[in-house]
Amino acid sequence: MVHIVQQGDPVLRELAQTVPVKDITTPKIQKIISDMKEALASQKDGVAIAAPQIGIPLRIFVVSGLILRHADPDKYPDGEDMVFINPTITKLSKKKNEVDEGCLSVRWLYGKIKRSAQASVSAYNEQGEKIERGASGLLAQIFQHETDHLDGVLFIDKAYDIEEIPPEKQNEEGDERLYDTHNDEDLGE
Ligand code: ZN
Repeated sequence: MVHIVQQGDPVLRELAQTVPVKDITTPKIQKIISDMKEALASQKDGVAIAAPQIGIPLRIFVVSGLILRHADPDKYPDGEDMVFINPTITKLSKKKNEVDEGCLSVRWLYGKIKRSAQASVSAYNEQGEKIERGASGLLAQIFQHETDHLDGVLFIDKAYDIEEIPPEKQNEEGDERLYDTHNDEDLGE
């Protein structure tokens, strides 16, 4: 099983390095991507993961295909995980929403945070092709949370009303928090 590093590990505070585009299709980088997908799939509340969270200080994040399909079934019908390499946020809406947030590397804290309602990311996919994605709601929140990871920033640096909810206190309703705390009308745009 791929280990997910926890808050306190210095790798989470590093400025992650750019991946040379010619290296994206090499076995080394492809192995890192598959380890990230494995780590993400191992967490039932996981929506996305950044490479530093498995101890690799490179600018890569992966968004769960299930979450993509939930957020925008027309654009992401197949449920495949989506890989973002060397992502840059190209647009952020001025309008922000207060949303609930947690992190696979900051167990078991949750808090409220202000995130832009819309965000666009330019990146490379796992085949080394340039991609551009715009999103709103949960997906926009994920883009901001994950690019923060690549800059050594954790959500607890910006969040407020932080509380600890240990796994044994998390009921079905608790799990829902992570997926569906947004105004549902924000999803799927
Ligand atoms: Zn995180």
